[in-house]
Amino acid sequence: MARNPEIEEILLRVDLVGLIGTTIKLTRSGRSYKGLCPFHAEKTPSFHVYPPEGTKSGFFHCFGCKKGGDALTFLVDRDGLSFQEALEQLANRAGMEVPRNIRGVSLSKKRSRFDFLSQCQAHFRSNLRHAARGQEAREYLDKRQVDKHWIDHFGLGYAMNAWDGLVQALGKNSDNVDLGLSLGVIKKRENGEGHWDFFRNRLTFPIQTASGEIIAFAGRDLSGDSQAKYLNTPESDLFKKSRILYGLHQSRESIRETRTAIVVEGYFDVIRMHSCGFANTIAPMGTALTPDHLMILERQCDDIILLFDGDRAGRMAALRTVQLAWDLEARTRVAHLPSGVDPDDFLLSNPSEAMAQLLEGAVPAFNYLLDQILEETGLDSPEQIRKAVDRVFDALKGMKSNTLLDLRLKELADRIHIPLTNIRYDWNQKRTRDGHSRVPASSPNGSPQHIQNNPIVTPEEEARKGLQILLLKDESKIEELIGDKLNTHPTSRACLEKALNVLKEQTEKDDLVLFLSAYLDGGVSSARNMLEQGDEDSILWEVEAILREERIPEDPLRTLEDYTDVIVRSYMDRMVDQYRKALLAAQAEHRWDQLQQIAMKVDELVKERDIILSKGKEVR
Ligand SMILES: [Zn+2]
Repeated sequence: MARNPEIEEILLRVDLVGLIGTTIKLTRSGRSYKGLCPFHAEKTPSFHVYPPEGTKSGFFHCFGCKKGGDALTFLVDRDGLSFQEALEQLANRAGMEVPRNIRGVSLSKKRSRFDFLSQCQAHFRSNLRHAARGQEAREYLDKRQVDKHWIDHFGLGYAMNAWDGLVQALGKNSDNVDLGLSLGVIKKRENGEGHWDFFRNRLTFPIQTASGEIIAFAGRDLSGDSQAKYLNTPESDLFKKSRILYGLHQSRESIRETRTAIVVEGYFDVIRMHSCGFANTIAPMGTALTPDHLMILERQCDDIILLFDGDRAGRMAALRTVQLAWDLEARTRVAHLPSGVDPDDFLLSNPSEAMAQLLEGAVPAFNYLLDQILEETGLDSPEQIRKAVDRVFDALKGMKSNTLLDLRLKELADRIHIPLTNIRYDWNQKRTRDGHSRVPASSPNGSPQHIQNNPIVTPEEEARKGLQILLLKDESKIEELIGDKLNTHPTSRACLEKALNVLKEQTEKDDLVLFLSAYLDGGVSSARNMLEQGDEDSILWEVEAILREERIPEDPLRTLEDYTDVIVRSYMDRMVDQYRKALLAAQAEHRWDQLQQIAMKVDELVKERDIILSKGKEVR
């Protein structure tokens, strides 16, 4: 990847396998190393690490979640370090100096967005401090007993009760306007010129990465008449609600020290907990906890405590969440507050010791589930027991580890005084009916099934990806095989031009169109350049990974023809299909005048498709 040569030098010297190996277990597999992906939940390894080769620095790529990058990206994504921090760490590891003036060389797009959001943050902060403008917001915080130290610690701010407070502050700078629009802090006026603020009369909470970079904002309504009490700026590739935990930056140290994380529901709960000495508290972003959230926590601690309201909604939320935690290595426990009370309320009327006690009494996830289910169903009749067992089975059905599953079934058996063999038998009966995995009976016969969660790839997608990869492969090796390069050989050129024309005709914006145009114009280097300019560089890492994994097909021309054939045919089929539907619609709606026209178009297309396809065969 095109980078500053000094950075490239550091990346070449870094022992990437060793670096990543501190997080996950890697085993050798051909030219790469593989292990369980640290960025998504999986039980079959699809995460590959490629050590440096010659003048090419090492990189990683996950074939499951498509995450990929080099040592820098890895540290930024895994530890939430800033680019600068990551670079310093790597330089240290490699025993080198940190190059000067590297700011903005790489990740520059991300950087400018971080800087832009800091600029917005400065605006919100100054509003809150401003004697007149911030008065209402300060009174509100005062009423909620949040004092200045904690306001500053969490960077709370205020968006004025105006349509263009932020818009004015950002000025007419077109970069600012573009960034503001793409990150959702300002909106375009629907009629007329200009823009307006996304947040008005709201208390603002900066949403930060673990290392403290602002990636989004949440706003709490202060007018009392907005439909949404809390609002977030929209998701972006920086900000994914399912992966971000509020307060992680402020909690990072404490979570590492205590090896425990406390999960609450609201922003004010987090702030209150911190101010009362529970600095290892975080909250999801107004959504339920996701498997990704749990994974992020699992990597940093051994104990996760879910602290929920004791009302029905709180108990339902806890039940849903513990079911995501069965396979975690960290222990997950549930603590409940009195019904209708959140942590903020609780700590305003109770001493911190009372909270500490509550947390200490947190119940392990599976016991919690059993308690809740048995309390609802009762244990007095065989029917009740049967119902309870069914519900426990349902809750466990997503479990991937057979060992852990068996332990839980044993706990269930003990709790309801039924022999474990019977419970296992029932589990297997039910799971076989539902088509899920079985636990080995007392003697394991037959291997446990692994649930593969590979996304389904259509032949067309495969062909599109395959074609791009083929065209990026080592030209000289292909030349050895077919006596020419793929972009100059008449057969492959004809094929690619045909595909390009069909694609162009039918879709206005298509990545493959850009790619093929670049390739036909300037060969491999311009196709690569085109990819490198794209916003999403995951495709590049994937290409890199596949290039190092796979050999060149024995008959590259034939492979190329097959791919283009699939692509062209899929497009033609889709078009014919569209017109046929239009034809039926016209018939149903008695649009006789259009009927003739559409029918002719269908005929034309079918003919065209057949010609294109037979041409492909002639060439071969
Ligand atoms: Zn992954």
